[in-house]
Parts: sequence; structure tokens; C-alpha cells
Amino acid sequence: MKAAIWGCRGTVPAPGPATVRYGGNTSCVAVETAKGRLVVLDCGSGMRPLGNALAADPPAELDILLTHMHLDHVAGLGFFAPLFMDTTIRIWGPRLEGEPLSANIATYLSPPLFPVRFEDIPANVEFVEVRDESWKIGGLSVTAAPVQHPGGALGYRLEEEGRTLAFIPDNELGLDPDAGVELATGADVLMHDAQYTDAEYPSKVGWGHSSVPDFAAFVRRTEPARAFMFHHDPAHDAETLEAMRDDAAELAGREIELAAEGLTLTI
Ligand SMILES: [Zn+2]
Ligand SMILES: [Zn+2]
Repeated sequence: MKAAIWGCRGTVPAPGPATVRYGGNTSCVAVETAKGRLVVLDCGSGMRPLGNALAADPPAELDILLTHMHLDHVAGLGFFAPLFMDTTIRIWGPRLEGEPLSANIATYLSPPLFPVRFEDIPANVEFVEVRDESWKIGGLSVTAAPVQHPGGALGYRLEEEGRTLAFIPDNELGLDPDAGVELATGADVLMHDAQYTDAEYPSKVGWGHSSVPDFAAFVRRTEPARAFMFHHDPAHDAETLEAMRDDAAELAGREIELAAEGLTLTI
């Protein structure tokens, strides 16, 4: 499979000169399976340019794996060009706070939060609620599991032809070091929350994100072939992120990489 990072910032889009190197758009990764099928991980603001790239030749159907409903993971959906085309879009995601996934998405994609009424959106949008389970999308095996995040969130493990991508953008290992371990163990590529420095974390406990030392311990434990820090804090410029990466590499005793907007990986 191929994975393209369209957004890896957390919390809120952060455009500007300080974020050019790793990007300011929020969580969105496009996966192309070996058979050419498109699976999109999260609908952050990076989904808007992804949709523009697809608009000239949109797929007839595509699948979205949504981790949770926080705005940095859904804000791009309403600006995703295939939503306004003759497309079938299947959204797999968690049921949170008692509301069905479909109701949560329709609330966002309706006035007064959005100018178009959800029922008037041209694409055929389908919803599948998932929790702790595995299923197939074409030849791709997908496993979802709950992770540690306020209000609940899912992480995903994608496997095809013996290759594995683990996507866990929001997860507070400081409150549960076991969260996401099964999803990440032995993955070829891991993308995982590493939002805070060791110094920042004590004032952010319970916010749902991991510190660099907790991320490094998770990498040591799960041993992915490549480990990417993801969900970069909007206040962290490129130099700060690179210093955090160097700290993580020293603590993990191995190479650690920073997710970057525009990066494509063949897995
Ligand atoms: Zn987030
Ligand atoms: Zn979140």
C-alpha cells in the first residue's frame, strides 16, 4: 500500500512560516491499496487539498476511517470535493457520547455550522459504526481498537500483503501505556501522537495526548520498523519538532521520524 500524509498537525490548523516544514493542516492520510482502492484516514483540514487532487478523476467509491469527532479530525470533510460529486463515501467510525456516528456528522454538515443541509449533499454517504473489531475493505484488513482520549477515539491497523500501517493520531499513553499496543506492535509504519514535550505534559494531563518520553517507551515496546511522531502541536515550530524528535530518538535508542505534510510512503 501507499500512504500520503495530507495533514499531521493536531488540535487546530496552524498555517504560517513556522509550520511550513512539517505542515499546518490537521490529521488526514490517504492510503492507496495494492488494488488501487482509496482509504482515507481522518478528515482534518488536509482533506481539502486531497479532495482537490482527486477532483479531476474522483473514485466512484471510497472509504474513510474516522478516529473520532474532534474538529481537527473532521473539519476537512465539508470541503472535500468528492462530497459534491456522484460518489459513494463510506465512513467507518466510532459511536461516541451516545449519539450515532451519522447524527454527529450530519450535525457538523448542516446549518448553522455548515451552509449546506446534509440531505442535500450530492454524494451517497454511508455510515458504519465500529469499535473493537476487524473487517475487510477489498484486500485490505482493518482492525479498530479504542485508545485513551477524552470522549473516546479509535486507532486503526491496516494490513495488506503482509505489510502494516498503524494509525493512532490521538492517544494519551501517560494515562494508559497499554492503549494501542496491539494495533502498533510490529507495524511496518507507525504514526502516533507525540504532541507534548516532557516539560509541557504535566500541565496537559487528561487532554488526550502523549509526551515524547511516553511515545519513545511505546516505540521501544511495539518495535515498528518506522516510527513517526504525529499530531504536532500548533505552537511547535519546525526547530521545536526536530528537537523533540532528537529527544525521542535518544530515549528510544533508534531512529524516529516526524510526520510531514506531503510525505508519501510505500509500505
Ligand atoms: Zn486531534
Ligand atoms: Zn481529539
